[in-house]
Amino acid sequence: MIGEEYKTLVRDCPIVAELAEGKEVFWINGKKKSFVDAIADCELSSADVRDASARLKRFAPYFMAAFPETRATGGIIESPLRAIPKMKEALEIEYRVEMNEQLYIKLDSHLAVSGSIKARGGIYEVLCVAEQIAMREGGLSLEDDYSVLHSEKYREIFSKYSIAVGSTGNLGLSIGIMSAKLGFRVTVHMSADAREWKKKMLRSKGVKVIEYAEDYSVAVENGRREAESDPTCHFVDDENSRTLFLGYAVAAERLAEQLSKEGIEISADYPLHVYLPCGVGGGPGGVAFGLKLAFGDNVHCYYAEPTHSPCMTLGMATGLHNKISVGDIGIDNKTIADGLAVGRASGFVGRFTEPFIDGCYTVKDERLSELLAMLWDSEDIRLEPSALAGVHGAVQRRDDRGLHLIWATGGSMVPPDELRKYYNEGKRVKGEKL
Ligand SMILES: *Cc1c(COP(=O)(O)O)cnc(C)c1O
Repeated sequence: MIGEEYKTLVRDCPIVAELAEGKEVFWINGKKKSFVDAIADCELSSADVRDASARLKRFAPYFMAAFPETRATGGIIESPLRAIPKMKEALEIEYRVEMNEQLYIKLDSHLAVSGSIKARGGIYEVLCVAEQIAMREGGLSLEDDYSVLHSEKYREIFSKYSIAVGSTGNLGLSIGIMSAKLGFRVTVHMSADAREWKKKMLRSKGVKVIEYAEDYSVAVENGRREAESDPTCHFVDDENSRTLFLGYAVAAERLAEQLSKEGIEISADYPLHVYLPCGVGGGPGGVAFGLKLAFGDNVHCYYAEPTHSPCMTLGMATGLHNKISVGDIGIDNKTIADGLAVGRASGFVGRFTEPFIDGCYTVKDERLSELLAMLWDSEDIRLEPSALAGVHGAVQRRDDRGLHLIWATGGSMVPPDELRKYYNEGKRVKGEKL
């Protein structure tokens, strides 16, 4: 972006200058609409989410057969909801604030099969592809017990097809693990920032991993191109897929059940505030959309991003969405928050969720590290850096009445020695401040 263009952008949208300087910002969305108005001219509906939910239920017997760790939850991949009072206390002391409302965490970090929020959307999209093929070529019908898909017959059918995806790591893990288990051939195009252990784990499961020296967008573009030339290849389009989005959205009805089991009633007097770490946008956008369908105006959703990769904040604040990248304003897109290292937001998700979202904010890497160590020490919950981005929002919005929910998006697949390094870095950062 040349000087004059940048100046005009900053004049119209001053927050851009703060983003460019790497400052932590909190942006409130002036284009948010009431739920009734927002849903009125919306291309997806609650029927679409119900359809996704029903599909996941059909696959439950398959999961119990293929992934024994899902038996405890009846083949449904769902994460725990937990109150974190000790973390709240630690935050009050560290930041010298009072937090009078309840603080909860949603542990997608501990979802079965792939250990991150990607176990929702990523797996769901692979199931959609598998179901279609199984019906067309294997005679599967809606009423069947889907555990039959865990068989040589179906593995052979699926082996004629391939799945491709571009990823910073976690989406690759979820698509790779799920596809390989069903018997698909699968290729994951990994961006430069993807961790070595993720590539190793995928290769050990028979997944083809292609590495790039460039960032996420390049990995996705190459995956897309490769798939285009092969009619038996399905490309999972993280930037545009409605299917992924709906897989994420199912989270909300499950959360609603968990809250009511805890005896918590969300209402206009006691709303829900949710803080969602955001990369390209599909995960947090899908969850937020589901939450709006479930709770309407009684839920407030925020996207959380690292200061080094604030693509959604930039896209939404300027209204340019995927027409601008963080590189355009001189930001490097280098962050310890793997899943969030995205320089250009999804055009679909940015525009689609614009009327639903309350705001976006950014967090420094050092703060993510520090919060990681604090959550580890106070609650013995171990997350990857991305998954801490939600905490900062809950601290800043602490005076808003209601329940504050941090969406913890990943961590349980991270090898223990890597986790320990994250923790040590957090302790170092915390020590420096003292
Ligand atoms: C992918 C990911 C996100 C964000 O999801 P997007 O769909 O990319 O916005 C957040 N946290 C973690 C750990 C992730 O892997």
